[in-house]
Amino acid sequence: MTLPADLPRLKDLSQRLGADPLRIQGPGGNTSVKERDTMWIKASGTELADAERREIFVAVDLEALQAAMAAGDPRADQPAEFARVHGGLRPSIETSLHAVFPQRVVVHAHCVDTLALAIRVDARERLAERLGGQRHGFTPYAKPGATLARAVAASGGVEAGVVVLGNHGLIVAGDTVEQAERLFDRVTAALVATPAPFAAPDMAELARRGGRLYAPPPVDHPLHGVALSPYRCQAALRGSLYPDHVIFCGVGATALGAGEIAAAGGPPFLLVPGVGALIARDASAGALALSRCLGDVLARVPQEAELIYLTPAENAELIDWDAEKYRRALNAS
Ligand SMILES: [Zn+2]
Repeated sequence: MTLPADLPRLKDLSQRLGADPLRIQGPGGNTSVKERDTMWIKASGTELADAERREIFVAVDLEALQAAMAAGDPRADQPAEFARVHGGLRPSIETSLHAVFPQRVVVHAHCVDTLALAIRVDARERLAERLGGQRHGFTPYAKPGATLARAVAASGGVEAGVVVLGNHGLIVAGDTVEQAERLFDRVTAALVATPAPFAAPDMAELARRGGRLYAPPPVDHPLHGVALSPYRCQAALRGSLYPDHVIFCGVGATALGAGEIAAAGGPPFLLVPGVGALIARDASAGALALSRCLGDVLARVPQEAELIYLTPAENAELIDWDAEKYRRALNAS
C-alpha cells in the first residue's frame, strides 16, 4: 500500500477547511484521495481540523467498495468492512459518496452558505442561478450512505466534480489537491451570502433564565440572531434542516416559554425568543459547533424563503443510526 504523494497536501487543505466554522463544524465533512485501488479517507468521528496533528485518514479497498455499491450489496453501507486495516479507525460513514467520483481528490463540506441555499424549497433553481455556467448536480435529501451515493452518481454533476446535497452540503472533486481546492473556492465564492445583522441580546436576562445549567454565549454569537428574529426563531423551532444538527443537537430547537427558567435534562441549546440564546454548560464540542452553525445558516436565509425540513422518519433514522452513535461517542470522549 503506497501512500499517495499528495496526502500531505490534502492534510494541509483539510486542516485549513476544518479550522473554518463556516465550512466545517466539529467532526463534519471529509476529504479523500485515491491511489490505484485504495482510497484514503477521513475516519469517522475525527476532525478535519486535526489533519496535521494526528492520523485522521484510513485506507479503504476502493475496488471492493465500488463492486459492493454496483451490486446493491448492503455492505456498501458499512464502510468499516472495506478498511484495509481492521480494528483501527473506521472510514467515514460518507465513504461511498467519495467512491462514486472518478477524480482522485474529493472534498465534502457543510458550508453554511451552501446550506442556506440547500435547505430551500427552491434550492435547485437558486443554485443554478448562483453557479451560472458551472456544471453541477443536485440531489434532494437522503440519509448519508449508499442510497445518497447512488443519487450523487445520477445527479449529472460527477463529471464536472460539483454536487450540492439538498439539506446537507457540498461535494467537489478534482484530479489533484490544487484542482479540487480551486474548484471548491470558485463554487463557494459563487454561493457566498451576507449574514443578516442582529440586535444585542439581553445578557442579564439570559443569565437569569439560564439557571445553573445554561449560559449565554458571547454577544456576537450567531445563535442570538435566531432567538432575536421572529422569522428565524420560527424557522428553527419548526424542525431539523440538516443531519449533523440532529446528531449533535437533537431534533430542531427548543424555546423557553415566557418567564421560564431552563431546567435539567434539556437540549444542548435553548432559544429565548426576543432575548437571545442559551447553551448548556455541559454541551459537547459537536453540539457547540452545530449550535453556532444553526445561527450561521439561518442568518443567510432571506425571510421570504420557504424551507424543507427533515421528516420525523428521517430524524429518527439519524438518531437510531449505530454508525452515528459511534461518531457522537468519539466526539464526547
Ligand atoms: Zn456530510
